[in-house]
Amino acid sequence: AASRFRQASRPYYRPWSSGSHVRTPKPKAAFVVLVREHELHDVLLTLKEIQVAFNDDVGTGYDFVFLSETKFTDYFKSRVETFLAHRPTKPRVRWGFVEDKDWKMPEHIDYYRAQAAMEVMGKSNLIPYGGSQTYRQMCRYMSYPIFEHPLVMEYDYYWRLEPHTRHFCDLTSAYEDGQWVERDPFRYMRDNGKKYAWVLSLLEYKTTVRTLMVHVHRWRDANRHLIPEQSSFDFISDDGKAYNLCHFWSNFEIADLSFYRSEAYRSFFHSLDRAGGFFYERWGDAPVHTIGAAMLLRPDEIWKVDYAGYTHPPYMTCPRDAKLASRCACDPQASFEYDRSNCEAKWDKIQGRNTTEIILDINR
Ligand code: GDP
Ligand code: MN
Repeated sequence: AASRFRQASRPYYRPWSSGSHVRTPKPKAAFVVLVREHELHDVLLTLKEIQVAFNDDVGTGYDFVFLSETKFTDYFKSRVETFLAHRPTKPRVRWGFVEDKDWKMPEHIDYYRAQAAMEVMGKSNLIPYGGSQTYRQMCRYMSYPIFEHPLVMEYDYYWRLEPHTRHFCDLTSAYEDGQWVERDPFRYMRDNGKKYAWVLSLLEYKTTVRTLMVHVHRWRDANRHLIPEQSSFDFISDDGKAYNLCHFWSNFEIADLSFYRSEAYRSFFHSLDRAGGFFYERWGDAPVHTIGAAMLLRPDEIWKVDYAGYTHPPYMTCPRDAKLASRCACDPQASFEYDRSNCEAKWDKIQGRNTTEIILDINR
């Protein structure tokens, strides 16, 4: 342990690397964690995983922003702060409160209609969180209001973290053109014009997004001036109309916050919010983020973090490339890429690669 700390205080240097990224300015970026008090131990695991994978590196050491609509106890705060204070980079920890105006069901929602929907959907054990109002509030909050939180406003990039997630790979170096190069995902995003990054994509539960696409088209038709010429729409629709249920799993997400705070995305969110589907159905923040990104970003502005190994139960991804897998503690054969609800092939398609399409099972 002693040598590790000594090493940490030396200038950032890796013998195998080109060392290029540390010479660009450090982005204003933070890990952002919306979490509940009782998830303390699960979130500590996530913190350990991200520190080891990336943030323990002397060249990085990004801040953490914790958010909740209830005040964290001193016990929770001290466990998190003490844990991070003992890591090599001693990242800064900030505590944020989510205001009722951002968290609660908005005034314009017909409460009885929402309650009826929750009652019906709650009876089906095929719809996760079908009966939950707080889950709906969380999905709405994560869809946009979080990006206007005063603490989050201080940053240009965010990396969303959830409790009970694991990072299996060394994220400080990637294999590129036959050699290992230093890689700081935040700097990589900024230096390469990436606006959105993901690791797992899969199918949404149809019953949670029944009318989502109707409202997407309504907004799109009324806001042609906000739609770029080249988009990634083919990722979310096979015929240019209907939603194919594909989405990036937003429990892992890195984003350029100027994308979420753009006039187009904001207007898109507010129109969905007015439509009420966060409560009358159970629109998830993942399909909302994904559809927004697919409509508003070019394929080259979206980055699949292909050297990451990650799990949020029940799914796991592990790099198939042997070189990349060599820096990971996971099994490529067990990777979710082989599953029938994986949208990877659609991603390949928009990137201009033709891979064998897996027949997706949309009737779940
Ligand atoms: P799942 O990943 O879709 O199964 O949903 P989670 O229960 O993991 O919730 C997603 C994220 O939102 C996690 O980081 C949770 O800690 C957080 N979250 C969910 N509900 C609440 C809530 O009511 N309050 C707070 N503060 N965080 C919540
Ligand atoms: Mn989760």
